[in-house]
Amino acid sequence: MQIIPRDKHPISRDDISEHALKVLYRLHKSGYDAYLVGGCVRDLLLGVTPKDFDVVTNATPEQIKGLFRNCRLIGRRFRLAHIVFGRDIIEVATFRGHHSDEEQGSNKSKTSKTGLVLRDNVFGSIEEDAARRDFTVNALYYNIADFSIYDFVGGMEDLEKGVLKLIGDPEQRYREDPVRMLRAARFATKLSLKISDDCRQPIPQLSYLLDDIPAARLFEESLKLFLAQRAVANFEVLNELGLLSHLFPILKAPLKDSNSNEYRMMMQVMKDTDKRLSANKSVNPAYLFAAILWYPMVARAQEIVQEATLAEYDAFQIAAAEITSVQARSISLPKRFSLPMRDIWLLQIRLRQQNPVKAKRLLSHPKFRAGYDFLLLRGVVENDDELAKLSVFWNSMQEQFSDEVHSGKPSKPQKRRGTRRRRKPKSKKPSA
Ligand code: ATP
Ligand code: MG
Repeated sequence: MQIIPRDKHPISRDDISEHALKVLYRLHKSGYDAYLVGGCVRDLLLGVTPKDFDVVTNATPEQIKGLFRNCRLIGRRFRLAHIVFGRDIIEVATFRGHHSDEEQGSNKSKTSKTGLVLRDNVFGSIEEDAARRDFTVNALYYNIADFSIYDFVGGMEDLEKGVLKLIGDPEQRYREDPVRMLRAARFATKLSLKISDDCRQPIPQLSYLLDDIPAARLFEESLKLFLAQRAVANFEVLNELGLLSHLFPILKAPLKDSNSNEYRMMMQVMKDTDKRLSANKSVNPAYLFAAILWYPMVARAQEIVQEATLAEYDAFQIAAAEITSVQARSISLPKRFSLPMRDIWLLQIRLRQQNPVKAKRLLSHPKFRAGYDFLLLRGVVENDDELAKLSVFWNSMQEQFSDEVHSGKPSKPQKRRGTRRRRKPKSKKPSA
């Protein structure tokens, strides 16, 4: 164990959120140990602005609740305290320990046959807490008592060397939680760290373990991988490590031929996403997934046309439903994204017609803009004359009718009805 005193590291209290400091000080003054831990300490050491500040302590959730009026206890798998400051929430966890053996026999046993951790709700010491974390660079503790950093696993040295290393035996750690393979890729690209050889080497053979991860968790992970700025780099690393095919089985990844439409589409949509994010523009999972799954969807639709002699539009609908449900087994897209994804696909057929009267009507389709952008995207990927002509046509339609159809909104203000209508509350998840 190494303690790095205040004058030997660059973390200053000025860089720490005032809410996190408040929480740390209150815990400390009440006689508890209190540390910042994880991503925030790592990021501060690297000069990166942390996304959030996580606190750990030896106080139990109930003790924490006793100290803060603005405290909410959450989580069943592991109880956590949220200290709420308006929109800012500081998460406070109690040190986690090892599993007790007597739990093994209960019906909710702690690990599955493959070694997956199913349950972890045991409090422990700071050393145990450190050992349970994933990467050495994620296990650094900033102590509010004397502003020093506690390093139990060599995280400081790895940060200086620029390597990402799991704590403990890599294969065992991946088996406990296969999502760590995705996290390895993500931290390596985000922080420009090199995945150490012994952590990289087992990934291709263990990638299949991702197939057992709940599809909702993989959805959350996929947002962090592809809608948080390092999309191109993450795509490349995941493809290389053999992880991509477990996120999108329908793609028949690894994508090897960089001239294929699938590869070019993937690359292009990731580039566009990164670019939009750097320009502070919104990005939408529906559009991203529409792009990733587009060519498999079209291929399936073509098969259906042949097999069942259906109209193309009907075949698209069937193929869209099939592909969506196959994908849902790996990464499940919530309906609010899968429905617009289907709209974007179906619009590709409707955007083929060039009748100005019908075209004008289509301009007010709620997903028109996304469908049109998708048409342009396909144009870039396929380098196709027909798509280029269509893009020109739809561009001119939008210019011609821009006053009347302003992004789907009516040009004249609508009269208020006698009774006020309430809007449905909107969900706060990633939006269009
Ligand atoms: P980010 O910048 O993406 O938030 P982070 O390191 O803060 O990075 P979180 O997912 O917020 O990542 O997790 C916070 C901390 O919890 C991590 O730094 C790590 O110490 C621990 N942790 C998170 N997920 C795991 C995991 N799957 N296995 C072990 N430890 C984990
Ligand atoms: Mg975090």
